[in-house]
Amino acid sequence: MKKEINNLKNYINGKWSSSSKHNLNVTNPFTEKVIARVADSDNSDVNLAVKAAKASFESWKTTTPAERSLFFLKLADLLEKDKERLAKIESDNQGKTLLLAKADIEFGIDNLRFFAGACRTLTTTSAGNYVDTHLSDNQHKPLGTSILKREPIGVVAAITPWNYPMMIACWKLAAVSVGNTIILKPSSYTPLTTLELAALATKAGFPNGVINVLTGSGEKIGKMLATHSEVDMISLTGSTETGMEIMKLASSTLKKTHFELGGKAPFIVFEDANLERAAKFAVDASIVNSGQDCTAAARIYVQNKVYEKFIGLAINYAEKIKLGNPKDKNINIGPLISLRQKERVQSFLDNLKKTEKVVYQSKIPKKGFFFPVTIVKDFEQKSNLCQREIFGPVIAITKFNTEEEVIMKANDVDYGLASSVWTGNVQRAFRVSNALEFSEVWINDHLPLVSEMPHGGLKHTGHGKDLGIYALEEYTYLKHIYVGLTGDGK
Ligand code: NAD
Repeated sequence: MKKEINNLKNYINGKWSSSSKHNLNVTNPFTEKVIARVADSDNSDVNLAVKAAKASFESWKTTTPAERSLFFLKLADLLEKDKERLAKIESDNQGKTLLLAKADIEFGIDNLRFFAGACRTLTTTSAGNYVDTHLSDNQHKPLGTSILKREPIGVVAAITPWNYPMMIACWKLAAVSVGNTIILKPSSYTPLTTLELAALATKAGFPNGVINVLTGSGEKIGKMLATHSEVDMISLTGSTETGMEIMKLASSTLKKTHFELGGKAPFIVFEDANLERAAKFAVDASIVNSGQDCTAAARIYVQNKVYEKFIGLAINYAEKIKLGNPKDKNINIGPLISLRQKERVQSFLDNLKKTEKVVYQSKIPKKGFFFPVTIVKDFEQKSNLCQREIFGPVIAITKFNTEEEVIMKANDVDYGLASSVWTGNVQRAFRVSNALEFSEVWINDHLPLVSEMPHGGLKHTGHGKDLGIYALEEYTYLKHIYVGLTGDGK
């Protein structure tokens, strides 16, 4: 019997509702089959979501941090209970392994628990009496007391990508923990778990309209949200090109923007590093989530003396990577998100410079949008391989001679998100970390993010932080309240 395909609506004001009669197909990248249809939302859907978020803001902003904290803890518990089912949906929709999908959701749960605690600790720098008068006997009389508060901004539209759909949707809920209401706009490739998240939020007791989800194309409803006069802030995790476009669109209403965009992380291996460990991590950190990760090790620089040995170790390790059914726990990576992405990754290999050589390529399963694990050596600094995001399981390696040279090359890209340094010399580790123009530097490791520390970059990676207390601050504005002390005439 043919399996019925779910037609899913938007989640607005605590209900499933869509006015648009058009749908978008949602495909499983492993089976290449349509697994659901979601609303291809239109103007009236956007207006409905904004109206709901705006109306609920009036009461949500007056809740205490303690009340909001309880909703977050309940939501985290519901996600915990449901994580096996949610991980399966995420894996089916995104193509990532079930193991990685579970790890993403577990991290999302931890992020929510962090927000639950952190929203109760928001502080400002000072409060005090800063204006006074000198009396004739040289005594001081304060004229006023200043108080600095952090206030929620209003309706936040959060536009998210397809590589970590559920986890990044959880990150954006930082906005809600400090009193904003939100409209989540997931990527049209991967809307399923974000819809689940909103429905679970209602179960956790979040009032209607506080967390809403709109599905549809970025070009259409993403644009409407970015220009809507009643959306107060726009938070995007996506590509640099989309960030640039949204910045232009948001300028017509001078919205606050928060951008987590592309990355091109250098992975720097000095000759005194633990080479076996560095080679294993270089491969793992390049192919994580099939290479579709903004912090992935995208440019591996290895010091001359150990270069050939490192290449050998990397090939040995890459040969062990298994591609296949994301549900199989022996599989390391699944397919790419789409055929379009596969063609995009291939175009990098079709346009290699003369010196750039493919030294290893794995086999791929016949079905699914798989791209082979590929090692390219001797990449050139000015090539696309080094300068542009590939977002596929391509491990690009080149050599360097000196510390000064590798720092210069590592910094010579448009992006500024993540980086790592591999060395046994603590002074060098700190010297290089200090010189790297990236907002995350790992020493002898690559990839770990934690709920307590900020994540977000500079340059073409954008501005603004997810995670940590800094994420909560992003979603507030500072208000100075001055209380005059002499109004009664005394
Ligand atoms: P994308 O920019 O194509 O899409 C991101 C979101 O923006 C989607 O929801 C999409 O529908 C929407 N969108 C697209 N065009 C739009 C427009 N003109 N107006 C408004 N919205 C629009 O990115 P993607 O391909 O989904 O994700 C991959 C990108 O995300 C990579 O560049 C990656 O580096 C980046 N990313 C960054 C981080 C980070 O923390 N810095 C994390 C994950 C992904």
